[in-house]
Amino acid sequence: MAVVQTRNVTKVFKEGELGAVNNVNLETREGEFLVFLGPSGSGKTTLLRMIAGLETPTSGEILIGGKVVNDLTPRERRIAMVFQSYALYPHLTVYKNIAFPLKAQNVPKNLHKEKVEWASSLLGIGALLQRKPRELSGGERQRVALARAIVREPSVFLLDEPLSNLDAKLRLSAREELERFHRRVGTTTIYVTHDQVEAMAMGDRIMVLNKGVVRQIGTPKEVYDDPADTFVATFLGSPPMNLVENDGVIVGFRPEHFRLAEDIREVDKLTFKFRVENVEYLGAEFILSGLLMGGKADGKKVIARLLLGHSYEAGTTYDFAISARQLKFFDRTTEKKVPAKALTWQ
Ligand code: ADP
Ligand code: MG
Repeated sequence: MAVVQTRNVTKVFKEGELGAVNNVNLETREGEFLVFLGPSGSGKTTLLRMIAGLETPTSGEILIGGKVVNDLTPRERRIAMVFQSYALYPHLTVYKNIAFPLKAQNVPKNLHKEKVEWASSLLGIGALLQRKPRELSGGERQRVALARAIVREPSVFLLDEPLSNLDAKLRLSAREELERFHRRVGTTTIYVTHDQVEAMAMGDRIMVLNKGVVRQIGTPKEVYDDPADTFVATFLGSPPMNLVENDGVIVGFRPEHFRLAEDIREVDKLTFKFRVENVEYLGAEFILSGLLMGGKADGKKVIARLLLGHSYEAGTTYDFAISARQLKFFDRTTEKKVPAKALTWQ
């Protein structure tokens, strides 16, 4: 287990262009599961590759276990990395696939069996060791790739969208498996994804990136409940947070915080008329999209997410309300969060 740190790490691929990664400072905790979350092209892979030693930073330092590793090879960094497109050797058995890194690093052969068995039992594939990759399901192949990555007992585990090739159902079980696996080995892990649900579910903390810049680092609860800016506010959550300009600030409110006005007893609340234009019934909830009516935000499109209990009809205007403590406030220019303020809505 080791702590990973970056100090002002920047990567500029082409001189004169914007950096793919800009001045990133981060420090994992020992044994932590840290998620890099951001849209495609936000610099997640580039940052991970610099930590792994596969890419050289333009400036800044990378430390593993407290030591600067900029000049160390990937192997010397004792890091294991699993990519989105992991490739198993098709002509080798599962056993030989997992043992491959041991062989490549001249680990004495009499130790292979013990280490392969340790790694494969951690991932529950001990019974598959004599099979070839083509005789495995997608999820089993994934586990072999993970077993191969951990067999050298790395000090840090780097995973770049390892589940994105799996279908939705398999992804869920693979996710649970990875979580269980992390609890058992306890290795510091950095996990890259563009999927905010995956990030929320798996991360001890989430680092949100956009355009190579860190927007926020925090627990899933912190980034969801207290987003640092409008980017984080809208990137996490589905449907995303509604943002409406009012009284010189941007006001944010999440779809799940809408209530029928009569259902909120709190005095301190924002009430408004909401004309429903479309109703989606999703079994356990409704997604309503429509327009705010009247007041300063007249005609602004918003989305609500409501539990069952009432029925809603397209074309009808309802009195809705949001408790004041659920409102978020952002600066109109910088888009960063600002302290709560009293609003006049009408
Ligand atoms: P992500 O993993 O978040 O999708 P990447 O780290 O792959 O993002 O890419 C970040 C930015 O850097 C993108 O604009 C991408 O086009 C650019 N980039 C990545 N790798 C290279 C490279 N080898 N040469 C030039 N540009 C690159
Ligand atoms: Mg990537």
